[in-house]
Amino acid sequence: MSIIPSILECLTVPTPFNVGPIHIFWLKGEDGWTLVDTGPKTSDALSGIERFMQTHKFGFEDIARIVLTHQHVDHSGLAAVIAEKSGASILAHEGAVPYIERDSAFMNWHHEFFHRLYRENGVPEEMLSTVERFQEMMDMYADPAFVHGTLADGDELPGHPGWKVVYTPGHTQNHIALYCEEDGLMLSGDFLIQEISSNAFIEPALTREEERPKPLLVYRDTLCRIASMPIQRMLSAHGSEINDPKGLIQLRLQRQEERATRIAALLEEGPLTAFELSARLFPKVYKKEMPLTFSETLGHLDLLERTERVQRIVCDGIVRYQCQNK
Ligand SMILES: [Zn+2]
Ligand SMILES: [Zn+2]
Repeated sequence: MSIIPSILECLTVPTPFNVGPIHIFWLKGEDGWTLVDTGPKTSDALSGIERFMQTHKFGFEDIARIVLTHQHVDHSGLAAVIAEKSGASILAHEGAVPYIERDSAFMNWHHEFFHRLYRENGVPEEMLSTVERFQEMMDMYADPAFVHGTLADGDELPGHPGWKVVYTPGHTQNHIALYCEEDGLMLSGDFLIQEISSNAFIEPALTREEERPKPLLVYRDTLCRIASMPIQRMLSAHGSEINDPKGLIQLRLQRQEERATRIAALLEEGPLTAFELSARLFPKVYKKEMPLTFSETLGHLDLLERTERVQRIVCDGIVRYQCQNK
C-alpha cells in the first residue's frame, strides 16, 4: 500500500480469520503515535507490532492512543495488551464500548437476542450453540479492555488536527472511519473493502427497549452519505487501497439490489424462513458460516420489506417471508 511518508504508516499482520491479514495504521501526531486498530490477540500480531516499532525506533511508551474502528476482534484484540504496556488511552464509538469492555449485562442481552432471533427465523435448535461460540471466539482473540473515551461523528481526532471522525455504521452499528480532508484520504476500517463486500452484521440494539437495527438499510444510508463526500482514496483494514470509492460504493449498492431481487424470485414459489432462504442462497456454507449467511439473508429481507416487495407472516412463533403480491 502506498502511504503518505512520515505522517502515516501501515503494518499488516496475520489474522486467523477468513478475511485474511489486517492492516493497522500508525499516525504520528503532536503527542506521540496513534494506533488505528490493533490486530487480534495472537503472538504473531503482537510480534509484528513489536518489530514495526523497532524498525521505526520507538517503543510502547510512544503510543499515545489506540483508536478502534469497531469492536470486531481482528481490530480490537490487542487493545488491552497494548494499553497495558504503553499507558495509551483506548478510544472508540460509544456503541462499541459494551463489546470491548465485555459488559456482562450487555453480553447476556446479546446472547438472549440471538437465541430468540434465530429461533423465530427457523434456525434449527442444534445450531443455536453458535451464539455461545461467538463469546468463546471473542475471549480467545481479544482481552476485555477499558475504553477511556468515546469518539462521535465530526470529532477531531485528538492529537491530529485535520483528522476527523466519521461515523460509518452498517458493517457494525458502532463503526467509525478517520478522514483527512486536506488529502481526501479516509482510513475506512471494514466500511468498504476493495476485493470483498463488507457484511452488514445483524446486532442487537444497545438496550432491550430499542428495536433491532436493520444493518443493511443503515449500511446503504451510510454508503450514500459517504459517496457524497470528496474522498479521493480509502485505506481499508483489509485488501488493497481503494482509488475509486464512489465507483465501488455504486457497485456495492447495485449488488445488494441484485441479491434482493434473487431472494424475491426464490419467494415466488412460496413462503420461506430467513434460515431456509440462507440455505438456498449459500448452499455450501450456510451451516458452517451460519451467523454470516443469516445476517446477509435477513439484511436483504429487511431491504425487500422496506420496499414492500415481501411481507412477514408469523405462524406459531415462526417468521416466514412471502412475496407482497401473493
Ligand atoms: Zn469487522
Ligand atoms: Zn475486519
